[in-house]
Amino acid sequence: MKNARFIWLMVFLWTTDVMAQQITYKVSLREPQTRYATVTIEIINYKKEELRLRMPVWTPGSYMVREFSRNVESVVASDFVGVELPVEKIDKNTWVLRNQKTQSFTLVYRVYANEMSVRTTFINDETAFLAGSSLFLLPVGLEHLPGKVVLDKPTHWTKIATGLKGIEDEPHTYSFAHYDELIDCPIQVGQFDTISFSVKGIPHYVALVGHSNVVKDKLKTDLQKICETTAAIVDRVDFSHYWFFVHHTDKGGGGLEHMNSTAVGMPRWNYSNEEQYLGFLRLCAHEYFHTWNVKRIRPLELGPFDYHKEVYTDLLWVAEGITTYYDKLIMYRAGYMTREKLLQSLAGSISYTENTPGGKVQTLAMASRDAWIKFYRPDENSINSSISYYTKGAVAALMLDLEIRRGSKNKFTLDDLLTRLYDEFYVKKNRGFSAKEFMEAASKLAGVSLDGFFNTMIYSTKSPHYDRLFQQFGIVYETKENPSPFLGLQVKYDQGKTLVTGVLRNSPAFWGGLTAGDEVISVNGVKPSDDFTAFLSSYVIDDQLKIHVLRGDSIKTFDLKLIKNPYPTHHLKVDETASPVAKSYLEKWL
Ligand SMILES: [Zn+2]
Repeated sequence: MKNARFIWLMVFLWTTDVMAQQITYKVSLREPQTRYATVTIEIINYKKEELRLRMPVWTPGSYMVREFSRNVESVVASDFVGVELPVEKIDKNTWVLRNQKTQSFTLVYRVYANEMSVRTTFINDETAFLAGSSLFLLPVGLEHLPGKVVLDKPTHWTKIATGLKGIEDEPHTYSFAHYDELIDCPIQVGQFDTISFSVKGIPHYVALVGHSNVVKDKLKTDLQKICETTAAIVDRVDFSHYWFFVHHTDKGGGGLEHMNSTAVGMPRWNYSNEEQYLGFLRLCAHEYFHTWNVKRIRPLELGPFDYHKEVYTDLLWVAEGITTYYDKLIMYRAGYMTREKLLQSLAGSISYTENTPGGKVQTLAMASRDAWIKFYRPDENSINSSISYYTKGAVAALMLDLEIRRGSKNKFTLDDLLTRLYDEFYVKKNRGFSAKEFMEAASKLAGVSLDGFFNTMIYSTKSPHYDRLFQQFGIVYETKENPSPFLGLQVKYDQGKTLVTGVLRNSPAFWGGLTAGDEVISVNGVKPSDDFTAFLSSYVIDDQLKIHVLRGDSIKTFDLKLIKNPYPTHHLKVDETASPVAKSYLEKWL
Protein backbone atom coordinates (compact mmCIF):
# COMPACT_ATOMS: atom_id res chain seq x y z
CA MET A 1 0.00 0.00 0.00
CA LYS A 2 2.75 2.38 1.02
CA ASN A 3 4.81 1.53 -2.07
CA ALA A 4 1.91 1.92 -4.41
CA ARG A 5 1.21 5.29 -2.90
CA PHE A 6 4.86 6.31 -3.39
CA ILE A 7 4.89 5.29 -7.06
CA TRP A 8 1.60 7.04 -7.70
CA LEU A 9 2.97 10.16 -6.05
CA MET A 10 6.11 10.13 -8.24
CA VAL A 11 4.04 9.73 -11.41
CA PHE A 12 1.73 12.47 -10.24
CA LEU A 13 4.56 14.89 -9.41
CA TRP A 14 6.18 14.29 -12.77
CA THR A 15 2.84 14.78 -14.58
CA THR A 16 1.90 17.99 -12.77
CA ASP A 17 5.33 19.48 -13.39
CA VAL A 18 4.78 19.51 -17.13
CA MET A 19 1.11 20.44 -16.94
CA ALA A 20 -0.33 23.90 -17.16
CA GLN A 21 -2.04 25.50 -14.21
CA GLN A 22 -5.55 24.12 -13.87
CA ILE A 23 -8.59 24.66 -11.71
CA THR A 24 -11.62 22.43 -11.28
CA TYR A 25 -14.67 22.96 -9.10
CA LYS A 26 -16.51 19.76 -8.19
CA VAL A 27 -19.95 20.27 -6.71
CA SER A 28 -21.52 17.37 -4.87
CA LEU A 29 -25.28 17.50 -4.46
CA ARG A 30 -25.59 13.98 -3.12
CA GLU A 31 -27.47 15.01 0.04
CA PRO A 32 -29.94 17.58 -1.24
CA GLN A 33 -32.35 16.91 1.64
CA THR A 34 -29.77 18.53 3.96
CA ARG A 35 -29.62 21.73 1.86
CA TYR A 36 -25.84 21.39 1.76
CA ALA A 37 -23.52 21.34 -1.26
CA THR A 38 -19.96 20.13 -0.92
CA VAL A 39 -17.52 21.94 -3.17
CA THR A 40 -14.06 20.59 -3.96
CA ILE A 41 -11.62 22.92 -5.68
CA GLU A 42 -8.74 21.09 -7.38
CA ILE A 43 -5.78 23.25 -8.25
CA ILE A 44 -2.90 21.83 -10.28
CA ASN A 45 0.52 23.38 -10.69
CA TYR A 46 0.19 26.38 -8.40
CA LYS A 47 3.72 27.60 -7.75
CA LYS A 48 3.37 30.10 -4.90
CA GLU A 49 3.48 29.17 -1.23
CA GLU A 50 0.31 30.98 -0.28
CA LEU A 51 -3.13 31.05 -1.84
CA ARG A 52 -5.98 33.25 -0.68
CA LEU A 53 -9.54 32.15 -1.35
CA ARG A 54 -12.35 34.62 -1.00
CA MET A 55 -16.11 34.32 -0.99
CA PRO A 56 -17.77 37.20 -2.91
CA VAL A 57 -19.68 39.66 -0.73
CA TRP A 58 -22.16 40.57 -3.48
CA THR A 59 -23.46 39.33 -6.78
CA PRO A 60 -23.41 41.36 -10.03
CA GLY A 61 -26.78 42.85 -10.94
CA SER A 62 -27.89 43.08 -7.31
CA TYR A 63 -26.12 45.97 -5.64
CA MET A 64 -26.06 45.03 -1.99
CA VAL A 65 -23.44 43.42 0.24
CA ARG A 66 -24.93 40.06 1.14
CA GLU A 67 -22.00 38.34 2.88
CA PHE A 68 -22.32 34.96 1.16
CA SER A 69 -19.47 33.63 3.32
CA ARG A 70 -21.91 33.26 6.21
CA ASN A 71 -23.05 29.97 4.66
CA VAL A 72 -19.55 28.54 4.14
CA GLU A 73 -18.17 26.03 6.62
CA SER A 74 -15.64 23.22 7.14
CA VAL A 75 -12.92 24.50 4.81
CA VAL A 76 -10.21 21.84 4.60
CA ALA A 77 -7.18 21.62 2.28
CA SER A 78 -5.05 18.62 1.44
CA ASP A 79 -2.56 17.40 -1.12
CA PHE A 80 -3.56 14.79 -3.69
CA VAL A 81 -2.64 11.88 -1.43
CA GLY A 82 -4.73 13.16 1.42
CA VAL A 83 -2.19 14.90 3.66
CA GLU A 84 -3.90 17.88 5.24
CA LEU A 85 -2.48 21.34 4.55
CA PRO A 86 -2.88 24.30 6.90
CA VAL A 87 -5.77 26.70 6.17
CA GLU A 88 -6.46 29.80 8.20
CA LYS A 89 -9.52 32.02 8.03
CA ILE A 90 -8.21 35.57 8.37
CA ASP A 91 -11.33 37.69 7.96
CA LYS A 92 -15.05 37.33 7.30
CA ASN A 93 -14.64 35.89 3.81
CA THR A 94 -10.96 35.02 3.25
CA TRP A 95 -9.17 31.72 3.81
CA VAL A 96 -5.40 31.42 3.42
CA LEU A 97 -3.81 28.17 2.40
CA ARG A 98 -0.10 28.01 3.26
CA ASN A 99 1.65 25.28 1.45
CA GLN A 100 5.35 24.72 0.93
CA LYS A 101 5.14 21.07 -0.05
CA THR A 102 3.05 20.61 -3.14
CA GLN A 103 1.93 22.53 -6.18
CA SER A 104 -1.28 20.57 -6.56
CA PHE A 105 -3.93 20.31 -3.90
CA THR A 106 -7.63 20.33 -3.12
CA LEU A 107 -9.74 22.53 -0.95
CA VAL A 108 -13.06 21.16 0.26
CA TYR A 109 -15.85 23.18 1.88
CA ARG A 110 -19.55 22.97 2.51
CA VAL A 111 -22.18 25.57 1.67
CA TYR A 112 -25.60 25.74 3.30
CA ALA A 113 -28.16 26.76 0.64
CA ASN A 114 -31.70 27.32 1.82
CA GLU A 115 -32.50 30.83 0.56
CA MET A 116 -34.72 30.71 -2.48
CA SER A 117 -34.11 33.78 -4.63
CA VAL A 118 -32.85 34.54 -8.13
CA ARG A 119 -29.44 35.51 -6.69
CA THR A 120 -28.67 32.79 -4.16
CA THR A 121 -27.85 29.10 -4.31
CA PHE A 122 -30.85 27.04 -3.28
CA ILE A 123 -31.04 23.28 -2.80
CA ASN A 124 -34.04 21.11 -1.96
CA ASP A 125 -34.92 17.47 -2.50
CA GLU A 126 -36.13 18.09 -6.08
CA THR A 127 -33.76 20.64 -7.56
CA ALA A 128 -30.75 22.84 -6.98
CA PHE A 129 -30.08 26.33 -8.31
CA LEU A 130 -26.35 27.03 -8.18
CA ALA A 131 -25.69 30.79 -8.19
CA GLY A 132 -21.94 31.28 -8.54
CA SER A 133 -21.19 34.12 -6.14
CA SER A 134 -22.86 32.31 -3.25
CA LEU A 135 -21.12 29.01 -4.02
CA PHE A 136 -17.67 29.33 -5.56
CA LEU A 137 -14.67 30.63 -3.61
CA LEU A 138 -12.48 32.97 -5.68
CA PRO A 139 -8.81 31.91 -5.75
CA VAL A 140 -7.06 35.28 -5.63
CA GLY A 141 -4.64 35.68 -8.54
CA LEU A 142 -6.20 32.82 -10.48
CA GLU A 143 -9.35 34.71 -11.56
CA HIS A 144 -8.24 34.67 -15.19
CA LEU A 145 -7.59 30.94 -15.30
CA PRO A 146 -9.97 28.79 -17.37
CA GLY A 147 -11.36 25.73 -15.67
CA LYS A 148 -14.04 23.10 -15.32
CA VAL A 149 -17.12 22.52 -13.20
CA VAL A 150 -18.10 18.92 -12.51
CA LEU A 151 -21.50 18.13 -11.02
CA ASP A 152 -22.13 15.09 -8.87
CA LYS A 153 -25.93 14.82 -8.61
CA PRO A 154 -28.53 12.30 -7.49
CA THR A 155 -29.13 9.84 -10.34
CA HIS A 156 -32.85 10.61 -10.57
CA TRP A 157 -32.08 14.28 -11.20
CA THR A 158 -32.12 14.08 -14.97
CA LYS A 159 -31.79 17.70 -16.11
CA ILE A 160 -28.92 20.19 -16.07
CA ALA A 161 -29.45 23.70 -17.46
CA THR A 162 -26.70 26.32 -17.68
CA GLY A 163 -25.20 28.97 -19.89
CA LEU A 164 -21.82 27.21 -19.52
CA LYS A 165 -20.59 25.05 -22.38
CA GLY A 166 -20.61 21.28 -21.81
CA ILE A 167 -17.42 19.30 -22.43
CA GLU A 168 -17.77 16.46 -24.90
CA ASP A 169 -17.28 12.94 -23.50
CA GLU A 170 -17.14 14.27 -19.94
CA PRO A 171 -20.62 13.83 -18.46
CA HIS A 172 -21.97 16.60 -16.19
CA THR A 173 -18.83 18.64 -16.87
CA TYR A 174 -18.74 22.24 -18.10
CA SER A 175 -15.94 24.64 -18.98
CA PHE A 176 -15.49 28.28 -18.07
CA ALA A 177 -13.04 30.81 -19.50
CA HIS A 178 -12.43 32.66 -16.22
CA TYR A 179 -13.97 33.18 -12.78
CA ASP A 180 -16.30 35.95 -14.08
CA GLU A 181 -17.86 33.52 -16.52
CA LEU A 182 -18.22 30.85 -13.85
CA ILE A 183 -20.03 33.33 -11.60
CA ASP A 184 -22.18 34.61 -14.46
CA CYS A 185 -23.55 31.20 -15.45
CA PRO A 186 -25.88 29.80 -12.83
CA ILE A 187 -26.71 26.10 -13.05
CA GLN A 188 -30.12 24.52 -12.52
CA VAL A 189 -30.00 20.81 -11.73
CA GLY A 190 -32.80 18.39 -10.93
CA GLN A 191 -36.24 17.51 -12.20
CA PHE A 192 -38.01 20.24 -14.13
CA ASP A 193 -39.95 20.83 -17.32
CA THR A 194 -38.39 22.63 -20.29
CA ILE A 195 -39.46 24.35 -23.48
CA SER A 196 -37.31 25.55 -26.34
CA PHE A 197 -37.44 27.86 -29.33
CA SER A 198 -35.04 29.61 -31.63
CA VAL A 199 -34.19 33.31 -32.02
CA LYS A 200 -31.93 34.38 -34.90
CA GLY A 201 -31.00 30.71 -35.24
CA ILE A 202 -29.78 30.55 -31.64
CA PRO A 203 -31.42 27.94 -29.39
CA HIS A 204 -33.27 29.40 -26.40
CA TYR A 205 -34.45 27.21 -23.54
CA VAL A 206 -36.78 27.70 -20.59
CA ALA A 207 -36.47 25.69 -17.37
CA LEU A 208 -39.83 25.63 -15.58
CA VAL A 209 -38.97 24.84 -11.99
CA GLY A 210 -41.71 23.92 -9.51
CA HIS A 211 -45.47 23.47 -9.85
CA SER A 212 -47.44 26.06 -11.84
CA ASN A 213 -50.41 26.56 -14.14
CA VAL A 214 -48.20 27.52 -17.10
CA VAL A 215 -49.57 26.81 -20.59
CA LYS A 216 -46.35 25.76 -22.27
CA ASP A 217 -47.35 26.38 -25.89
CA LYS A 218 -48.60 29.87 -25.11
CA LEU A 219 -45.49 30.78 -23.13
CA LYS A 220 -43.29 29.43 -25.90
CA THR A 221 -45.05 31.55 -28.57
CA ASP A 222 -45.12 34.70 -26.44
CA LEU A 223 -41.56 34.44 -25.14
CA GLN A 224 -40.21 33.79 -28.61
CA LYS A 225 -41.96 36.92 -29.88
CA ILE A 226 -40.57 38.95 -26.93
CA CYS A 227 -37.04 37.64 -27.56
CA GLU A 228 -37.17 38.26 -31.32
CA THR A 229 -38.33 41.84 -30.72
CA THR A 230 -35.60 42.37 -28.12
CA ALA A 231 -32.80 40.82 -30.19
CA ALA A 232 -33.67 43.17 -33.09
CA ILE A 233 -32.84 46.30 -31.05
CA VAL A 234 -29.07 45.89 -30.96
CA ASP A 235 -28.94 43.61 -33.94
CA ARG A 236 -25.94 41.55 -32.80
CA VAL A 237 -25.85 38.16 -31.08
CA ASP A 238 -22.63 36.56 -29.85
CA PHE A 239 -23.92 33.80 -27.57
CA SER A 240 -24.44 30.19 -28.62
CA HIS A 241 -27.48 29.44 -26.44
CA TYR A 242 -29.66 31.09 -23.83
CA TRP A 243 -31.53 29.85 -20.73
CA PHE A 244 -34.48 31.31 -18.84
CA PHE A 245 -34.62 29.77 -15.36
CA VAL A 246 -38.22 30.32 -14.27
CA HIS A 247 -38.59 29.74 -10.54
CA HIS A 248 -42.22 29.21 -9.58
CA THR A 249 -42.82 30.66 -6.15
CA ASP A 250 -45.75 31.10 -3.78
CA LYS A 251 -45.41 34.85 -4.11
CA GLY A 252 -42.92 37.44 -5.32
CA GLY A 253 -41.00 37.77 -8.56
CA GLY A 254 -37.88 39.61 -9.64
CA GLY A 255 -35.09 38.60 -11.92
CA LEU A 256 -31.33 38.62 -12.30
CA GLU A 257 -29.52 38.99 -15.61
CA HIS A 258 -26.50 37.04 -16.88
CA MET A 259 -24.41 36.87 -20.07
CA ASN A 260 -26.53 34.13 -21.66
CA SER A 261 -29.18 33.30 -19.10
CA THR A 262 -31.50 34.83 -16.56
CA ALA A 263 -33.29 33.69 -13.44
CA VAL A 264 -36.83 35.03 -13.01
CA GLY A 265 -39.41 34.45 -10.30
CA MET A 266 -43.08 33.88 -11.12
CA PRO A 267 -45.89 33.20 -8.63
CA ARG A 268 -46.93 29.69 -9.68
CA TRP A 269 -50.66 30.20 -10.30
CA ASN A 270 -50.41 33.64 -11.96
CA TYR A 271 -50.36 32.43 -15.56
CA SER A 272 -54.17 32.48 -15.72
CA ASN A 273 -54.29 36.16 -14.70
CA GLU A 274 -53.80 38.20 -17.88
CA GLU A 275 -52.34 41.24 -16.14
CA GLN A 276 -49.92 39.18 -14.04
CA TYR A 277 -48.92 37.17 -17.08
CA LEU A 278 -48.17 40.33 -19.08
CA GLY A 279 -46.15 41.57 -16.10
CA PHE A 280 -44.16 38.34 -16.23
CA LEU A 281 -43.53 38.74 -19.99
CA ARG A 282 -42.33 42.28 -19.30
CA LEU A 283 -39.98 40.96 -16.62
CA CYS A 284 -38.61 38.44 -19.14
CA ALA A 285 -38.18 41.26 -21.71
CA HIS A 286 -36.34 43.32 -19.08
CA GLU A 287 -33.92 40.56 -18.10
CA TYR A 288 -33.37 39.42 -21.69
CA PHE A 289 -32.61 43.00 -22.80
CA HIS A 290 -29.92 43.10 -20.09
CA THR A 291 -28.09 40.48 -22.20
CA TRP A 292 -27.13 43.52 -24.27
CA ASN A 293 -27.55 46.47 -21.93
CA VAL A 294 -25.29 45.95 -18.87
CA LYS A 295 -23.91 42.49 -19.65
CA ARG A 296 -22.19 43.77 -22.82
CA ILE A 297 -22.95 47.49 -23.17
CA ARG A 298 -21.83 48.46 -19.69
CA PRO A 299 -20.36 51.09 -17.41
CA LEU A 300 -16.62 50.60 -16.77
CA GLU A 301 -17.12 49.49 -13.18
CA LEU A 302 -19.55 46.70 -14.05
CA GLY A 303 -17.16 44.06 -15.30
CA PRO A 304 -14.64 42.67 -14.69
CA PHE A 305 -15.97 42.79 -11.15
CA ASP A 306 -14.49 43.38 -7.75
CA TYR A 307 -16.42 40.81 -5.70
CA HIS A 308 -14.76 41.87 -2.48
CA LYS A 309 -16.48 45.21 -2.00
CA GLU A 310 -19.08 47.60 -3.38
CA VAL A 311 -18.39 48.95 -6.88
CA TYR A 312 -19.57 52.48 -7.50
CA THR A 313 -20.89 53.95 -10.72
CA ASP A 314 -22.98 57.00 -11.67
CA LEU A 315 -24.57 54.94 -14.42
CA LEU A 316 -26.96 52.44 -12.83
CA TRP A 317 -29.63 54.58 -14.47
CA VAL A 318 -28.12 53.50 -17.82
CA ALA A 319 -28.17 49.83 -16.76
CA GLU A 320 -31.62 49.81 -15.18
CA GLY A 321 -33.38 52.97 -16.38
CA ILE A 322 -32.72 52.37 -20.07
CA THR A 323 -33.67 48.70 -19.60
CA THR A 324 -36.92 49.70 -17.87
CA TYR A 325 -37.76 52.09 -20.73
CA TYR A 326 -37.09 49.27 -23.19
CA ASP A 327 -39.08 46.62 -21.34
CA LYS A 328 -42.10 48.83 -21.98
CA LEU A 329 -41.10 49.53 -25.60
CA ILE A 330 -40.55 45.81 -26.23
CA MET A 331 -44.04 45.00 -24.94
CA TYR A 332 -45.39 47.69 -27.27
CA ARG A 333 -43.29 46.66 -30.28
CA ALA A 334 -44.18 42.98 -29.80
CA GLY A 335 -47.88 43.83 -29.72
CA TYR A 336 -48.61 43.24 -26.02
CA MET A 337 -49.29 46.90 -25.20
CA THR A 338 -51.25 49.56 -27.11
CA ARG A 339 -49.73 52.96 -27.88
CA GLU A 340 -52.16 54.55 -25.44
CA LYS A 341 -51.18 52.13 -22.66
CA LEU A 342 -47.49 52.77 -23.34
CA LEU A 343 -47.98 56.55 -23.13
CA GLN A 344 -49.99 56.04 -19.93
CA SER A 345 -47.19 53.95 -18.45
CA LEU A 346 -44.50 56.50 -19.41
CA ALA A 347 -46.65 59.30 -17.95
CA GLY A 348 -46.91 57.26 -14.74
CA SER A 349 -43.11 57.20 -14.54
CA ILE A 350 -43.04 60.99 -15.01
CA SER A 351 -45.62 61.37 -12.21
CA TYR A 352 -43.41 59.28 -9.90
CA THR A 353 -40.32 61.27 -10.90
CA GLU A 354 -41.93 64.65 -10.32
CA ASN A 355 -43.96 63.73 -7.23
CA THR A 356 -41.41 61.85 -5.13
CA PRO A 357 -39.95 64.23 -2.51
CA GLY A 358 -36.70 62.22 -2.52
CA GLY A 359 -36.17 63.34 -6.12
CA LYS A 360 -35.55 66.84 -4.79
CA VAL A 361 -32.63 65.70 -2.62
CA GLN A 362 -31.06 62.88 -4.65
CA THR A 363 -29.92 63.09 -8.29
CA LEU A 364 -29.97 60.08 -10.62
CA ALA A 365 -26.17 59.89 -10.43
CA MET A 366 -26.33 59.88 -6.62
CA ALA A 367 -29.12 57.28 -6.69
CA SER A 368 -26.86 55.06 -8.80
CA ARG A 369 -23.90 55.49 -6.48
CA ASP A 370 -25.93 54.99 -3.31
CA ALA A 371 -27.85 51.92 -4.54
CA TRP A 372 -25.92 49.84 -1.97
CA ILE A 373 -27.22 51.78 1.00
CA LYS A 374 -30.45 53.33 -0.31
CA PHE A 375 -32.29 51.49 -3.10
CA TYR A 376 -31.45 48.04 -1.76
CA ARG A 377 -32.06 49.07 1.83
CA PRO A 378 -35.32 50.99 1.74
CA ASP A 379 -36.84 52.30 4.94
CA GLU A 380 -39.80 54.43 6.02
CA ASN A 381 -38.04 57.64 4.93
CA SER A 382 -36.91 56.42 1.48
CA ILE A 383 -39.69 58.39 -0.21
CA ASN A 384 -38.16 61.61 1.18
CA SER A 385 -34.50 60.74 0.74
CA SER A 386 -34.15 58.87 -2.53
CA ILE A 387 -35.41 58.37 -6.07
CA SER A 388 -35.51 55.10 -8.02
CA TYR A 389 -32.89 54.88 -10.77
CA TYR A 390 -35.23 52.39 -12.44
CA THR A 391 -38.25 54.70 -12.74
CA LYS A 392 -36.59 58.10 -13.03
CA GLY A 393 -33.91 56.35 -15.10
CA ALA A 394 -36.64 55.21 -17.51
CA VAL A 395 -37.82 58.82 -17.81
CA ALA A 396 -34.22 59.88 -18.51
CA ALA A 397 -33.98 57.12 -21.16
CA LEU A 398 -37.24 58.26 -22.75
CA MET A 399 -36.05 61.89 -22.85
CA LEU A 400 -32.62 60.82 -24.17
CA ASP A 401 -34.27 58.81 -26.95
CA LEU A 402 -36.32 61.86 -27.94
CA GLU A 403 -33.30 64.20 -27.65
CA ILE A 404 -31.27 61.98 -30.00
CA ARG A 405 -34.17 61.79 -32.46
CA ARG A 406 -34.71 65.56 -32.30
CA GLY A 407 -31.01 66.47 -32.52
CA SER A 408 -30.35 64.12 -35.44
CA LYS A 409 -33.50 65.32 -37.23
CA ASN A 410 -35.19 61.96 -36.79
CA LYS A 411 -32.25 60.04 -38.23
CA PHE A 412 -30.94 58.28 -35.11
CA THR A 413 -32.51 56.78 -31.99
CA LEU A 414 -31.53 55.33 -28.63
CA ASP A 415 -31.39 51.93 -30.41
CA ASP A 416 -28.57 53.38 -32.54
CA LEU A 417 -26.71 54.73 -29.50
CA LEU A 418 -26.79 51.30 -27.84
CA THR A 419 -25.61 49.65 -31.06
CA ARG A 420 -22.69 52.09 -31.36
CA LEU A 421 -21.71 51.56 -27.72
CA TYR A 422 -21.82 47.79 -28.34
CA ASP A 423 -19.51 48.06 -31.35
CA GLU A 424 -17.18 50.70 -29.95
CA PHE A 425 -16.71 49.54 -26.37
CA TYR A 426 -17.81 45.90 -26.08
CA VAL A 427 -16.43 44.65 -29.41
CA LYS A 428 -13.59 47.03 -30.28
CA LYS A 429 -12.23 48.15 -26.91
CA ASN A 430 -13.46 45.11 -24.95
CA ARG A 431 -14.36 47.22 -21.93
CA GLY A 432 -17.08 49.36 -20.41
CA PHE A 433 -17.46 53.13 -20.81
CA SER A 434 -17.10 56.04 -18.42
CA ALA A 435 -19.98 58.46 -17.82
CA LYS A 436 -18.11 61.02 -19.96
CA GLU A 437 -17.73 58.56 -22.82
CA PHE A 438 -21.41 57.64 -22.65
CA MET A 439 -22.48 61.29 -22.78
CA GLU A 440 -20.04 62.10 -25.60
CA ALA A 441 -21.33 59.19 -27.68
CA ALA A 442 -24.92 60.38 -27.17
CA SER A 443 -24.08 63.96 -28.18
CA LYS A 444 -22.14 62.77 -31.20
CA LEU A 445 -25.10 60.73 -32.43
CA ALA A 446 -27.57 63.57 -31.74
CA GLY A 447 -25.31 65.96 -33.65
CA VAL A 448 -25.77 68.54 -30.88
CA SER A 449 -24.40 68.83 -27.37
CA LEU A 450 -26.61 67.04 -24.84
CA ASP A 451 -24.58 68.38 -21.88
CA GLY A 452 -27.51 70.53 -20.78
CA PHE A 453 -29.84 67.54 -20.87
CA PHE A 454 -27.47 65.34 -18.82
CA ASN A 455 -26.73 68.13 -16.34
CA THR A 456 -30.44 68.58 -15.68
CA MET A 457 -31.66 65.01 -15.82
CA ILE A 458 -28.75 63.09 -14.29
CA TYR A 459 -26.71 65.51 -12.21
CA SER A 460 -29.40 67.83 -10.83
CA THR A 461 -32.80 67.47 -9.19
CA LYS A 462 -34.36 69.93 -11.65
CA SER A 463 -37.21 68.98 -13.98
CA PRO A 464 -36.69 68.99 -17.74
CA HIS A 465 -39.00 70.86 -20.14
CA TYR A 466 -41.25 67.92 -20.91
CA ASP A 467 -43.81 69.97 -22.84
CA ARG A 468 -41.35 71.41 -25.39
CA LEU A 469 -39.86 68.03 -26.20
CA PHE A 470 -43.10 66.04 -26.43
CA GLN A 471 -44.69 68.74 -28.58
CA GLN A 472 -42.13 68.03 -31.30
CA PHE A 473 -43.24 64.40 -31.29
CA GLY A 474 -46.93 65.14 -31.66
CA ILE A 475 -47.62 64.35 -28.02
CA VAL A 476 -49.53 66.58 -25.62
CA TYR A 477 -47.96 66.62 -22.18
CA GLU A 478 -50.20 67.99 -19.46
CA THR A 479 -50.58 67.98 -15.72
CA LYS A 480 -53.89 67.76 -13.91
CA GLU A 481 -54.55 68.89 -10.38
CA ASN A 482 -55.22 66.06 -7.99
CA PRO A 483 -58.68 66.89 -6.57
CA SER A 484 -58.37 64.85 -3.38
CA PRO A 485 -57.30 66.87 -0.31
CA PHE A 486 -53.82 66.12 0.96
CA LEU A 487 -52.49 65.02 4.31
CA GLY A 488 -49.16 63.43 3.27
CA LEU A 489 -49.68 60.13 5.05
CA GLN A 490 -48.81 56.74 3.57
CA VAL A 491 -50.65 53.95 5.35
CA LYS A 492 -51.25 50.23 5.13
CA TYR A 493 -54.20 48.32 6.49
CA ASP A 494 -53.01 45.26 8.35
CA GLN A 495 -55.19 42.94 10.44
CA GLY A 496 -57.74 45.64 11.20
CA LYS A 497 -55.11 48.29 11.95
CA THR A 498 -54.33 51.41 9.92
CA LEU A 499 -50.57 51.75 10.20
CA VAL A 500 -48.51 54.73 9.03
CA THR A 501 -45.75 53.49 6.70
CA GLY A 502 -44.40 56.86 5.61
CA VAL A 503 -44.87 60.60 5.90
CA LEU A 504 -44.19 62.83 2.90
CA ARG A 505 -41.79 65.72 3.43
CA ASN A 506 -43.41 69.16 3.85
CA SER A 507 -46.91 67.74 4.24
CA PRO A 508 -49.38 68.53 7.08
CA ALA A 509 -48.61 65.10 8.59
CA PHE A 510 -44.84 65.80 8.35
CA TRP A 511 -45.00 69.17 10.09
CA GLY A 512 -47.68 67.95 12.50
CA GLY A 513 -45.44 65.17 13.81
CA LEU A 514 -47.02 61.89 12.65
CA THR A 515 -44.43 59.22 12.05
CA ALA A 516 -44.01 55.76 10.54
CA GLY A 517 -45.18 53.06 12.92
CA ASP A 518 -48.08 55.12 14.35
CA GLU A 519 -51.41 53.28 14.38
CA VAL A 520 -54.26 55.61 13.37
CA ILE A 521 -57.06 54.85 15.82
CA SER A 522 -59.53 57.54 14.82
CA VAL A 523 -60.03 60.60 12.63
CA ASN A 524 -62.61 63.03 14.04
CA GLY A 525 -63.86 60.25 16.29
CA VAL A 526 -64.27 57.60 13.55
CA LYS A 527 -62.14 54.50 13.05
CA PRO A 528 -60.55 54.44 9.55
CA SER A 529 -61.65 51.76 7.09
CA ASP A 530 -59.37 49.51 5.03
CA ASP A 531 -59.31 52.10 2.21
CA PHE A 532 -57.81 55.21 3.84
CA THR A 533 -58.15 57.35 0.69
CA ALA A 534 -61.87 56.52 0.40
CA PHE A 535 -62.24 57.08 4.14
CA LEU A 536 -60.87 60.63 3.80
CA SER A 537 -62.83 61.41 0.62
CA SER A 538 -65.76 62.93 2.52
CA TYR A 539 -63.47 65.74 3.69
CA VAL A 540 -62.46 68.80 1.66
CA ILE A 541 -59.52 71.18 1.56
CA ASP A 542 -59.16 73.27 4.75
CA ASP A 543 -61.13 70.75 6.85
CA GLN A 544 -59.63 70.33 10.29
CA LEU A 545 -58.89 66.76 11.42
CA LYS A 546 -58.38 65.51 14.97
CA ILE A 547 -56.30 62.36 14.65
CA HIS A 548 -55.65 59.91 17.48
CA VAL A 549 -52.78 57.49 17.09
CA LEU A 550 -51.33 54.74 19.23
CA ARG A 551 -47.54 55.21 19.45
CA GLY A 552 -45.81 52.63 21.58
CA ASP A 553 -47.79 52.61 24.81
CA SER A 554 -49.18 56.16 24.47
CA ILE A 555 -52.18 57.69 22.75
CA LYS A 556 -51.21 60.91 20.89
CA THR A 557 -53.55 63.54 19.45
CA PHE A 558 -52.83 65.67 16.38
CA ASP A 559 -54.79 68.58 14.92
CA LEU A 560 -54.08 68.74 11.19
CA LYS A 561 -55.59 70.75 8.35
CA LEU A 562 -56.14 69.16 4.94
CA ILE A 563 -54.51 71.13 2.14
CA LYS A 564 -54.72 71.21 -1.67
CA ASN A 565 -52.77 68.32 -3.16
CA PRO A 566 -49.41 69.75 -4.30
CA TYR A 567 -48.75 66.78 -6.57
CA PRO A 568 -50.53 66.95 -9.95
CA THR A 569 -50.85 63.87 -12.13
CA HIS A 570 -48.95 63.84 -15.43
CA HIS A 571 -50.44 62.76 -18.74
CA LEU A 572 -49.29 62.05 -22.29
CA LYS A 573 -51.64 61.73 -25.24
CA VAL A 574 -51.40 61.87 -29.01
CA ASP A 575 -52.06 65.35 -30.41
CA GLU A 576 -54.38 64.84 -33.37
CA THR A 577 -53.74 68.44 -34.48
CA ALA A 578 -49.94 68.10 -34.54
CA SER A 579 -47.98 69.31 -37.57
CA PRO A 580 -47.12 66.81 -40.32
CA VAL A 581 -43.45 66.97 -39.22
CA ALA A 582 -44.36 66.20 -35.60
CA LYS A 583 -46.60 63.38 -36.79
CA SER A 584 -43.75 61.90 -38.83
CA TYR A 585 -41.51 62.00 -35.72
CA LEU A 586 -44.20 60.23 -33.72
CA GLU A 587 -44.70 57.69 -36.50
CA LYS A 588 -41.03 56.72 -36.35
CA TRP A 589 -40.95 56.64 -32.55
CA LEU A 590 -44.22 54.77 -31.93
ZN1 LIG B 1 -32.77 45.19 -14.46
